[in-house]
Amino acid sequence: MAGEGGSEDATTPTAIRQAGPRTLAIVWADGRESRYDVRELRLACGCAVCIDEWTGEGRLDPASVPADVHPIRIEPVGRYAIQVEWSDGHSSGIYPFRRLRELG
Ligand SMILES: [Zn+2]
Repeated sequence: MAGEGGSEDATTPTAIRQAGPRTLAIVWADGRESRYDVRELRLACGCAVCIDEWTGEGRLDPASVPADVHPIRIEPVGRYAIQVEWSDGHSSGIYPFRRLRELG
């Protein structure tokens, strides 16, 4: 077993897949797998539309996000993040791997 933290492996995904209708799975280079409820991921969006850039407060009303929201398309952004296009029409959300690792 490798030591905790500091390693780039912990924030480098080797696979991103839909593990079920409601679950997204990311396998990291250090061998760990993180699983996310896709709606929780949608609610955790950190973009300027969902989070007030000045106060850091959430502007997204959870009630406005459909219960069956799911990713339509997931695209890599450079080597550090993914961009998710959601079924509710929201597509400006960028999820840095570091943040995903923390959420997982
Ligand atoms: Zn957003």
